[in-house]
Amino acid sequence: MCGIIGFTGDNVPAVPILVDGLKKLEYRGYDSAGVAYFKDNKIEITKSKGRLTVLEDLLKTKKGTDGTVGIGHTRWATHGEPSDINSHPHISNSGLFAVVHNGIIENYATLKEELKEKGCNFLSDTDTEVIAHLLETSYDGDFISTVKKAASRLEGSYALGILCKENPGQIVCVRRSSPLIIGVGTDGNYIASDITAILTHTRKIYQLDDGEMALLTPKKVTIFDEDGKEIAKKVEKVTWDVAAAEKGGYEHFMIKEIMEQPHVLAETISPRIASDGSINLDGIDFTKEQLKKVNRIYILACGSAYHVGVVGKYVIEKLTSIPVEIDLASEFRYRNPLVDSNSMVIIISQSGETADTLAALREAKTKGARIISIVNTVGSSIARESDDVLYTWAGPEISVATTKAYSTQLSLVYLFAIYVANKLNKIGDAEVKKLLSELNALPDKISEILKLAPQIETLANRYAYLEHAYFIGRNLDYAVALEASLKLKEISYIHSEAYAAGELKHGTISLIEKGTFVVGLCCCERLVDKTVSNIREVKARGAEVLALAVEGNDAVAKEADRTLYIPSTHEIFMPSLEVVPMQLLGYYIAKARNCDIDKPRNLAKSVTVE
Ligand code: GLU
Repeated sequence: MCGIIGFTGDNVPAVPILVDGLKKLEYRGYDSAGVAYFKDNKIEITKSKGRLTVLEDLLKTKKGTDGTVGIGHTRWATHGEPSDINSHPHISNSGLFAVVHNGIIENYATLKEELKEKGCNFLSDTDTEVIAHLLETSYDGDFISTVKKAASRLEGSYALGILCKENPGQIVCVRRSSPLIIGVGTDGNYIASDITAILTHTRKIYQLDDGEMALLTPKKVTIFDEDGKEIAKKVEKVTWDVAAAEKGGYEHFMIKEIMEQPHVLAETISPRIASDGSINLDGIDFTKEQLKKVNRIYILACGSAYHVGVVGKYVIEKLTSIPVEIDLASEFRYRNPLVDSNSMVIIISQSGETADTLAALREAKTKGARIISIVNTVGSSIARESDDVLYTWAGPEISVATTKAYSTQLSLVYLFAIYVANKLNKIGDAEVKKLLSELNALPDKISEILKLAPQIETLANRYAYLEHAYFIGRNLDYAVALEASLKLKEISYIHSEAYAAGELKHGTISLIEKGTFVVGLCCCERLVDKTVSNIREVKARGAEVLALAVEGNDAVAKEADRTLYIPSTHEIFMPSLEVVPMQLLGYYIAKARNCDIDKPRNLAKSVTVE
């Protein structure tokens, strides 16, 4: 995965626009960066391993970077280590074509052999470089028809931005299974992997569909289908707030996004509850008969979205009595799942571009299941390929570690479960009303919990230098433990594991010794006593225990070394409240350890490779 940007304008230098756009796209990949631009009628490339600042410094040493056309890239390597030579853009041997690429060319090895036989000289280890040479060897004097010919040879996923020496002033782009949008500006036109990169310049965009190509000049955007036929497309207007994509005074995007949760949760929940108390799922409608036929619900996702699914399993089964299977998307597609037309599949992904999840969606779809997706990015691949979409209105999430997307995804799972249960008469209108009023109260309760931030920061300083952490809980507390543990480890690099509290004694307890850090989640009222017993067991072996409990529960504090309290809500909604102090704990521990919180090592925000 990576970030792509391109600009062609009349009188405006392209390079500053590219660098500025790449800064907004760095969350998509940040192991190297580069730009291509015209200088003295030739394509010039400046690129380097490392963060964008390295490229910026390099550009300062170059002359002639004031051309008005260019493409840029921030990389997350898939083929070939992060290095200067493997960075994008890649250029063909005679300097005719330069290309930036997001995705993976699955047949690159075959193409490479073929191109080598034709005399092409390869400099990098990337799959991308074959595209540059393929373009040059396919060149027929026409930019678009050459790209079309070359693209027809590519297998895998790609979003490409291309410059051609013979056509200065033009950019051609094409996409398949990787995101790409076109921005229509007043001073020129843009390509970008996502909207945030160009939002300061324009709000008018075209979404490219799979296989489509576009030719951009400073004054015009022409779009073609995969047969090369010109097509008319509607310009869409982006309504996102620019400030929402920036840090807004916080030290990190992660803490900003944690603090935004009451707001975005309200944005996601409120419009879906009509004034008469009924649930409006953006026009998604199921008849009772359709729902009765559903014999199994599958939830497919990766990472934190998978943890939303774990909560979903408990909640949907409890409310609807429909069996729910939760699968890691990357496993689902290779296990020959027993999905059929009586299955309902819920897909969860923040970016809507997660490659594993998209592949799982396609697998389920070919087996006839109805696909409902929960995604944050409008017009993303998952959204477009689903039968129904529920958008989380979380706004752009920049921090690699998700917080507000997790919370809003969870709120939609709740709404969906209540909707289905009510349609099936598993819960009556009075119960729906009660649940929805609790759901509506969550944003205010989260605001209360956020006031714990200074207290959690103090605690975090105490735990910051521990080497291991264990999060334990039962039932929904366990589902939250999974997310709490991932949050801590991904940003602080502390080894951390989540355990169903009752499972600890079946092996893992042997790891507990004096000073081992254990977080006990004790908010599932029915099972608090059981978890407290497990806390006693680890305390007896020397563990240092931080507990999370519901206000008024004194039994937990008697056993734990320290206890954080959160307000109460209906049992099924507890995860929405519990996760917030756990996000803060992970954040403040990572901060105390001086970690690169928004861009943890080896990670990227939108995982568009398998
Ligand atoms: N496969 C290409 C590479 O490894 C592009 C990866 C990306 O999307 O950043 O360079």
